[in-house]
Amino acid sequence: MRHILAAHKVTDREGLPRRSTLMPMSPELSVVIPMYNEQDVLPLLAGRLRPVLDGLDTAYEVVCVDDGSSDLTPALLQKLRRDWAQVRVLRLRANSGHQAAISAGLAHARGAYVVTIDADLQDPPEVIADMLATALREDVDVVYGVRNDRTTDSAFKRTSARVFYAFIRKISGTKAQSDAGDFRLMSRATVDAINALPEHGRVLRFIVPALGFPSASIGYRRDERAAGTSKYPLLKMIKLSLDSVTGFSLFPLRLATYLGIGGAILIAFAALALAIASRVGTTIPGWTSTVLIVAGVGAVQLFCLGLLGEYVGRMYTQMQGRPSYFIAYDSLHQPAPTASPSVPQATPSHDLT
Ligand code: UDP
Ligand code: MG
Repeated sequence: MRHILAAHKVTDREGLPRRSTLMPMSPELSVVIPMYNEQDVLPLLAGRLRPVLDGLDTAYEVVCVDDGSSDLTPALLQKLRRDWAQVRVLRLRANSGHQAAISAGLAHARGAYVVTIDADLQDPPEVIADMLATALREDVDVVYGVRNDRTTDSAFKRTSARVFYAFIRKISGTKAQSDAGDFRLMSRATVDAINALPEHGRVLRFIVPALGFPSASIGYRRDERAAGTSKYPLLKMIKLSLDSVTGFSLFPLRLATYLGIGGAILIAFAALALAIASRVGTTIPGWTSTVLIVAGVGAVQLFCLGLLGEYVGRMYTQMQGRPSYFIAYDSLHQPAPTASPSVPQATPSHDLT
């Protein structure tokens, strides 16, 4: 096993480094899990994750990022923390989204290696052991979890993902694999590099490959969500896609230019044709064609304006410099929990043991 990094910088929020005052020995491995209203799946997750991590024979911490859950998740996490000393709860003040929750976890994780994994058990925790072994054996900075069997995802999700990733690869030049999501292991150097990025609305599955650090992949079968419902409705997926495209490429901005050039060439040809038509005396067709042209040009203009708006919007949020999340509290800085009545109790149906 590699040496454990004793002390390192953490960031309070994206891009703002600080030194932690209370920093016990850093663990070898941090497992960052974003959670939003995951009360149904949490007991199952704990039941599967714990044997894997305990079996690693290495010091670890489980950073549960509670993304402003409004169900029993916070109470269940407190209970879990009492039973499982390595669990650390990082609660965000408000629901900030999957990527922001992962970013918060990365900024506060202390491990020499950090794994990010969703809470819903779609990504098997058992693979974490292989990831760590691969990273140590092959001396790579990143180990991607790649879904080599996505039959549990809908045909729509699979096809749209394949097309979308191919598009991103084309326009951005990054080597993001179509079937790699947010299940991956990263070295401390990678995590520090990500934490140092001031960018908002960052999409980690594209940022990590864009860093270009040495990497390896491990294939796994993506399961169905173990319990509860998806926290990724279509609107959130569209936002993620827009962030991915505008965060990685100026192509859409150039698309407006290309369209403008194409339109200008077309208009030049149309003007020539009209000039010839008027010379030979052919009457110009009625208003239909005029209306069509006006509508067509209007549509192109709106489209270009929309694209410009995307970038202007990004600059706007960047200039505002608002943090993507606010930490409500970090259990690392709290005294060890006792079975006191002040700790919220879960209902028996959500018992974690
Ligand atoms: N998640 C989150 N904040 C959100 C939405 C989702 O932290 O606003 C977490 C969620 O709890 C889960 C992960 O992100 O651990 C992925 O969400 P989900 O499994 O619902 O997405 P899907 O797999 O359906 O795309
Ligand atoms: Mg999921």
